Parts: sequence; C-alpha cells; structure tokens
Amino acid sequence: MFEKKIAKEELETFYQSKYEYFRRLSFMAAIITAFAEITYFGTDCQIFGRFAWETLIPRFSILIPVAFLVIFEPRIKSYKVATVMNYLLAHAAMWATIWAIWYLPDRDFAREGFIIMHFAFLAVGFGMPVKYHIPMHGAMLLNIIISNQWNHYEQFEMMISMSVPIYIGAVVLMMIQESSYADHYLVRKELQNSLMTDSLTAVYNRNKIEEILVPDSGKLDIPHVDYATVLMMDIDWFKNVNDTYGHDSGDKILVFFAEQIKNCVRSLDIVVRWGGEEFVVLLLGADLDAGCKIAEKIRTTVENSSNEVCPITTSIGVCRYDGGDFHESVKKADKALYYAKNHGRNRVVMYDDIKDEIED
Ligand code: GH3
Ligand code: MG
Ligand code: MG
Repeated sequence: MFEKKIAKEELETFYQSKYEYFRRLSFMAAIITAFAEITYFGTDCQIFGRFAWETLIPRFSILIPVAFLVIFEPRIKSYKVATVMNYLLAHAAMWATIWAIWYLPDRDFAREGFIIMHFAFLAVGFGMPVKYHIPMHGAMLLNIIISNQWNHYEQFEMMISMSVPIYIGAVVLMMIQESSYADHYLVRKELQNSLMTDSLTAVYNRNKIEEILVPDSGKLDIPHVDYATVLMMDIDWFKNVNDTYGHDSGDKILVFFAEQIKNCVRSLDIVVRWGGEEFVVLLLGADLDAGCKIAEKIRTTVENSSNEVCPITTSIGVCRYDGGDFHESVKKADKALYYAKNHGRNRVVMYDDIKDEIED
C-alpha cells in the first residue's frame, strides 16, 4: 500500500529513515520484552508454590542475547541487520520461555504467556518494514508449533486459534503504521526541500550547502566525491536592470539567469543562489580544466541567450575544491570574481591565475 506513496528507488532510504526514527523505541521494546520474560520467574514460583530453581537458568539465559544486543546494536547502521537483531531478541525471549515451560508442572498459563508475546513483537516491530514483520512475527507461531513437539501444551489448538487472528491483526496494524509513517516521511522530505530551495529561482539556497558540509571541519560530505570545482558568479550591472526596468523585471532576469546556469551543468551539480544575484555552482568531481570550460560555457550562454527584459552578462570566479574547508574555496572563488569585476566584467577568472597578483 505504501509502495504507491514511495518511489521504488527510494524504498531503501524510506526503510532506513523509518528504522532510525523508531530506533530507540524498537530497541527498548526488545529489551523490555527480555526483562518481562525474566519477571515470569515470579509466575513460575507461583505455579510451583515454591522457589522455582528449575526455571532460574532458562529465565535468566535471556541476559546473554540482551548483552549481545546492547553491545552491538548501537554499532549497526543498516536497518536490515539492526531490525533482524531486535526481532531475534524477541525470539530468544520466546525460546527462554519455551525452555522454562518444559519444567512447569502446569503448562496451562503458556497460552496467556504467548499472547503477551504477540504484543512484544508488535512493539519491537514499530521501526521495521512490514515485509520483515510478516515473517519475523509469523515465525513466533512456528516456535509454538515446533516446541509443542516436546512441551505438549495442554491448550495447543486454542493457542494457535487465538494466535492466528492476533498475528493477522498485528500485521494489519503494522501496515497502517507504515503507511502513516510514509506520509510523515514525505511531508518531512517536502519541508526539507522547500527549506533548501530558493522560492524565486527554484535552485538551492545556502541551507543546502550547510546540509552537505561536516559541521566542524566544513568539509564536503558527499559520497564518492573527493574534489570539485567551485564557481561563483554575479550578474553584471544588475542594479541598472532594476533601476531601468523595475524590480519585477529584475526578478525575471534572475529566473532566466538560474535557468541558463542549470542548462549548462549536470543534474548532480549543485546550483545555489548565494544571495541577491550571486550564485555558487558546485561542479562535483570536476577538475579545474573542466570547471573552467563549464564556467566559460555559462558565461557565453548568458551573453548570447535572449530574454524578455534585456541582454545581460555575468562575471565568474573559479576555484578548485580539494577537500578541507569548503568555505575557503568559496572565498577564493569570490576573490577571483571580484578580480573579474575589476578587469572588465563578462569574464571568467581562475583563482590560481591571480592569487600571486592579489596577495602582493
Ligand atoms: P556588478 O557588476 O558590480 O555586480 O554591479 P551590480 O549593479 O550588479 O551590483 P551588485 O551586484 O552590488 O547589485 C546587486 C543588486 O541586486 C542590488 C539589488 O537591488 C539587486 N537584487 C538583489 N536581490 C534581488 C532580487 O531578489 N530581485 C531583484 N529584482 N533584485 C535584487
Ligand atoms: Mg552584480
Ligand atoms: Mg552582487
């Protein structure tokens, strides 16, 4: 049902996001399930009418998988592995119960115990994909059927006939929950997109840059991208456009300018309206040579394309980004842009070509 909402190629990101959102809840549910299983030692004592030393080890054996989960779960990033680990703890709690039941003189209460376990699976399953929940929770019924071979539950048929509808109900609940998380996911994504998009030109705004930088170092954090070329561009004599044709026409020029930039770069490159009529383009994986060619292409395209207001030109500063603080590269590209403005405008200037001159 949620597949209609989430595009197929986005499902992995969706499931990862769902897991991360409910991660603490699923983890706590798995741990509480394990501890609830231990508290049933008290029930064992009630059934025996004395200290039930026989079920002490089976009941407390769950502490071994609990320790395993506590140690390893925080280190696991992928929802696929972490999900299965949480479910396995719920299964371990179930098997500890099955082990303890073996010693009980009266196994009548096993039926209630297993019904409680359904709720444990429901809680653990909150952060999990429904397609995982179906087999993982379904295996619980299998546990009952298998362990009946030696535990011979007095109420076995009743256990199964009560468990099946609860299981189906749990799966339906999980489907509703996943579908509603899909809505939440889509709204959040839309909100994030609009937070990072400039409403006039529809290219990114500066928030996008903050999103792709490591907070302290200012390094670019884009998978498989080690270097890039930064272009900083500004429309020449733009104040005159506003003064001559009005602010609305100035806005039309800004939209036109952003379109020309987008037409000259690949869809994976990042175009940002830096402020006013200044734009930064991040050409991912492009060396300086390729970066300069693209900058020149933008410059000539802007110069030669016509729009409904007036002809415009742009000056562009170019700087290579080799890792390290991204803002340093932007500053250098800005210096190159400033140089272009002071040397006739409508030109591309590479920071490396002028750095000796401007540092003197
Ligand atoms: P230069 O060649 O040196 O860049 O000259 P310039 O006239 O373009 O100077 P500058 O870059 O300082 O001008 C920026 C102008 O951009 C001033 C401001 O009114 C205008 N501007 C900034 N944001 C917007 C906007 O959203 N819409 C419009 N229409 N104008 C804007
Ligand atoms: Mg300008
Ligand atoms: Mg400007």
